[in-house]
Amino acid sequence: MSRRRRYEGKAKILYEGPEPGTLVQHFKDDATAFNNKKHDQIEGKGVLNNRISEYLFLRLGEVGIPTHFVKRLNMREQLIREVEIIPVEIVVRNAAAGAIAKRLGLDEGTQLPRSIVEFYYKSDELDDPLVSEEHITAFGWANPQEIDEMIALSLRINDFLTGLFLGVGIRLVDFKIEFGRLFENEMMRIVLADEISPDCCRLWDIETQDKMDKDRFRQDLGGLIEAYQEVARRLGVFVDNRPGDGSGPVLVSSK
Ligand code: UDP
Repeated sequence: MSRRRRYEGKAKILYEGPEPGTLVQHFKDDATAFNNKKHDQIEGKGVLNNRISEYLFLRLGEVGIPTHFVKRLNMREQLIREVEIIPVEIVVRNAAAGAIAKRLGLDEGTQLPRSIVEFYYKSDELDDPLVSEEHITAFGWANPQEIDEMIALSLRINDFLTGLFLGVGIRLVDFKIEFGRLFENEMMRIVLADEISPDCCRLWDIETQDKMDKDRFRQDLGGLIEAYQEVARRLGVFVDNRPGDGSGPVLVSSK
């Protein structure tokens, strides 16, 4: 089937969808870090991220978070609503890790006094610099009302996902999300877009502190696929690498 490619990113491709206003989001096996300086193919990653992201977007939709997700099409692809991506990445942090640990000299894993929302300007050339609301409004990337909406949605997403992961024995340390503008009959809404998967979250096993996310790739720890599979299994998304039976999350006892 020949389809028009709209956009190719590091881990995903967007194709034109079957109807106007829709796109097909295709998950690749490519893993990149440090703004593409480290690059590899990890067989099966795209399939896992497609499933995990589908699951999380569906659960978020059920609690009233508007998203671009329509339905999963196959192992690697999902149908989404076309949105105008706001060029700002939102990072929500519950504990110190990665960039904030380095920038502020905090020990990895230190719980933050409260959840912190940060903004990064989406620009590969500039390595996604940290920016403030002032920059976002001054340069017209989003208006104050849109920023307030993104912050409110991000905090609700954080509360919901923190609880969801806690229930399956996983600590949600931080995550990155993106929002888009969805236009429908003269109206515009801010909706959750892109993906939520172990590629863009820090997920630590509550018991062992093992990393179950892309840090396994960034830090050459190995076992990335096994870790993503375990996240999927605990969420009840995959059973033995086969589609889940839909029975939902697997409760992990906290002992
Ligand atoms: N993140 C992401 N894409 C980016 C930068 C960060 O998905 O371009 C995610 C990352 O996986 C982590 C969170 O956002 O879960 C916070 O990352 P941080 O700012 O600490 O950056 P890093 O440690 O990657 O420098």
